[in-house]
Amino acid sequence: MAVPLFDPSTPLELLRPALRAAIDDVLATRRWILGPQVAAFEEEWAAYTGTTHAVGVANGTEAITIALRALGVGPGDDVVVPSFTYFASGEAIPPTGARPVFCDIDPATSCLTLESVRAAVTPRTKAVVAVHLFGNVAPVREIEEDLGLPVVEDVAQAAGSLAAEGRPGNLGAIGTFSFYPSKNLGAFGDGGAITTSDAALAERVRTLRFHGAADRVTHTEVGYNSRLDELQAAILRVQLPKLDGWADHRRAAGTWYAAAGLGRHATLPEPTHGSRPAWGLYVVRVPEPDALAARLAERGIGARGYYRVPIHRQPVFAAEHGDLRLPGTAEAARTHLAIPMSAAITRDQIEEVVEAIRDAVG
Ligand SMILES: *Cc1c(COP(=O)(O)O)cnc(C)c1O
Repeated sequence: MAVPLFDPSTPLELLRPALRAAIDDVLATRRWILGPQVAAFEEEWAAYTGTTHAVGVANGTEAITIALRALGVGPGDDVVVPSFTYFASGEAIPPTGARPVFCDIDPATSCLTLESVRAAVTPRTKAVVAVHLFGNVAPVREIEEDLGLPVVEDVAQAAGSLAAEGRPGNLGAIGTFSFYPSKNLGAFGDGGAITTSDAALAERVRTLRFHGAADRVTHTEVGYNSRLDELQAAILRVQLPKLDGWADHRRAAGTWYAAAGLGRHATLPEPTHGSRPAWGLYVVRVPEPDALAARLAERGIGARGYYRVPIHRQPVFAAEHGDLRLPGTAEAARTHLAIPMSAAITRDQIEEVVEAIRDAVG
């Protein structure tokens, strides 16, 4: 039995008629940019995350840059960000004029910790980008309360996850989302959103996403052309009522992996204190992940290491940051392996994956 690494398409099959109808509606209204679909999605997304404001933007990368700028981050400032994450989390910082300062993560959770952030803070630190990596939930409140720094939550991989205190995107000063097709909630192209319960921050974000013009004609600053479009908003609105069910399926699939005995052959991801991750990616750790991935591929099972080279060692950042010692990052980078996870994966598929891993690593 082949088991794909991820499967965003199967859950959408049931929604096909509703998706077609939603697309037809947009064609009928002929509103493409910042129309009724985006306005409605923004209201629904704020309600879903528990915030008072959601603002649609073009993608999850610009969402981080715009969120940082809305917080007043600019030239001369430092922004702390984990090195073990998708490149975009760090890439979004230099366009603000600020400097990224890379911090470590706990390889057990794949998230930064209060201690790892504290070790990276400088007198110039203006904000922290906390990544809810693989769907796990970073300790955002702890960081804001202990260090007195605003946190931008990078929620690109954690739509549908839960923390004891609420939903990611509503834990820190401001949250950023990606609706890239393979994320937990995916558009049919690029898309993103920013959430906050601070009205002034939300206003700043709305201005920045539209060329720095609050009234659309008076440009008070240099902003961005970064908008979610009507078609994508309509497509996301059809899917949103399903998101929690899909997230529950991902959580259940995680427990199936454990129940099938995967923990005897690999180190399983550990939810952070009080969190219930909707695993965007299910990432285990083994001593030789690439060899294991090759063995799994022979059986038609998808597996992949996403971040073998952490951001601070990528060519563009290595000259300035490459010598940084981040032991948790180094370990996670060397040993992590994403194995199949989706809102459609079956218990039989999970058992097949565990059997294949057992056969490969013993
Ligand atoms: C996907 C992703 C992003 C970027 O989102 P895009 O919509 O592709 O720009 C940022 N951070 C993380 C952790 C991601 O996984």
